[in-house]
Amino acid sequence: MPPAASVKRSKACHQSVQAFYCQVEGCNIDLATAKDYHRKHRVCECHSKSPKVIVAGHDRRFCQQCSRFHDLSEFDQKKRSCRRRLSEHNARGGSHRQKHSHLIPPCSLLHFMKKGNRWTSF
Ligand SMILES: [Zn+2]
Ligand SMILES: [Zn+2]
Repeated sequence: MPPAASVKRSKACHQSVQAFYCQVEGCNIDLATAKDYHRKHRVCECHSKSPKVIVAGHDRRFCQQCSRFHDLSEFDQKKRSCRRRLSEHNARGGSHRQKHSHLIPPCSLLHFMKKGNRWTSF
């Protein structure tokens, strides 16, 4: 019987005292007023754009493609998307364009442009 009562109590407690902090070491920013995106991934806006942060004692960077922290070795220089994602995209797009340079379906071209804009705008 007690389970029902305790669940109810902890739930109410959880809702009222829920706190989100940036997971980067040394950062004490309360994410209560941050965007849902940053709260969900427990990173403040500033650190989601930092080229290098410390998480759990390791050098990390927030990947904007995967929405998570990766090791710095996964990135090229100043890129904010990990190399794996970029190379996947480039390999597919490159071979596709070489074979069908005169015949690109409108939808895939749009997709490609959209991605390009996203990278350059950051
Ligand atoms: Zn932070
Ligand atoms: Zn990534």
